[in-house]
Amino acid sequence: MIFSIGDHVEMIKSGQKTQTRRRAGSYIVGRSYSIQPGRGKAGIVEGRIKITNKVKEYSTCSVISAEDAWDEGLYTPLKFEELYSRMYSGWFVRWAYTFEYVPRAQKKGRGFMTVYESNMYPETKTWNPFVGCRFDCLYCEKSFKRQLKRVSRNIGCPLCYTYTPHYHEHRLRKIPSAPNVFVVGTGDISFCDPDFVIRIFEAIEKHKPRIEKTYFFQTKNPVWFNKYLRWFKDNQDKVILITTLETNIINREISKAPTVIKRFQAFCELDYPRKVVTIEPVLEFDINEFSYWMSLLQDQGNLEYVWFGFDSKNCGLNEPSERKAQAFVDGLKALGIRVRGKSVRGLIV
Ligand code: SF4
Repeated sequence: MIFSIGDHVEMIKSGQKTQTRRRAGSYIVGRSYSIQPGRGKAGIVEGRIKITNKVKEYSTCSVISAEDAWDEGLYTPLKFEELYSRMYSGWFVRWAYTFEYVPRAQKKGRGFMTVYESNMYPETKTWNPFVGCRFDCLYCEKSFKRQLKRVSRNIGCPLCYTYTPHYHEHRLRKIPSAPNVFVVGTGDISFCDPDFVIRIFEAIEKHKPRIEKTYFFQTKNPVWFNKYLRWFKDNQDKVILITTLETNIINREISKAPTVIKRFQAFCELDYPRKVVTIEPVLEFDINEFSYWMSLLQDQGNLEYVWFGFDSKNCGLNEPSERKAQAFVDGLKALGIRVRGKSVRGLIV
């Protein structure tokens, strides 16, 4: 049984970072949780861990809301697993959990630790007041573009269907309540009109959430960040800037976005204290040079982590072997780079 005995719980109780992942019926401890204070509830007994989110790792995230899990209350992790597997029979392979651990001595009403599994973007929602992109990445067809076609049928928007850059102005009024918000998660914000970008910023400034929020801004044209650097810096406590580098090898067949070299150079030159690189979907790379790129970013002291993942949509991409990818990931970790990800197949990240 996970979570019930042993070092793992001790590590959580002592506030150390750790991670549990399940493979073929067993649980492997090995990666990081961030630990935050939470509020207690009556009736939870000694050493019990309450799973509040369960997410399938190999495909689109399915998340049970914290409220649902809360209502079901008081089950052991195993019981939760049985219950959710019955409710969502399509779930399989590997799970990521968000759970709460209540120490043995905890009394009603006192605080306890909430432990968030951090190998994903937990509790993240996209916010799409602007939608669309013209970079035409090959792998976008089966992911964002397909997703938006579905949306277009529901909301009757032909521009969503064609993935043409456009605006859904009314969404400016409704920033998701999740603690992490991907701003323009379905599209590339560098295609957004500057006036509308300002309106997005204003909406964020006006938003007064009850919890601390992090806003992720991502583009494959990182020179774009410079236009708004003042605003980003003024809001650096809540803004992380991201670019995608699927590889270090130029491949013009894959995307019309600036080449990976241009992206890398621009991202390196970007004078901003909170950066993330997404290597997803990873493409065949030169391990020495790609690792060197990452080391240069790491040396700047502002790389929060690298997000890593294989193609999860079977787009037939030219990918590195798992062995090579593992060697690369191990090299990043040896450089002190934090690696997170999904669709990592057999890799240990
Ligand atoms: S940059 Fe992103 S949104 Fe644009 S085509 Fe590529 S994957 Fe799709």
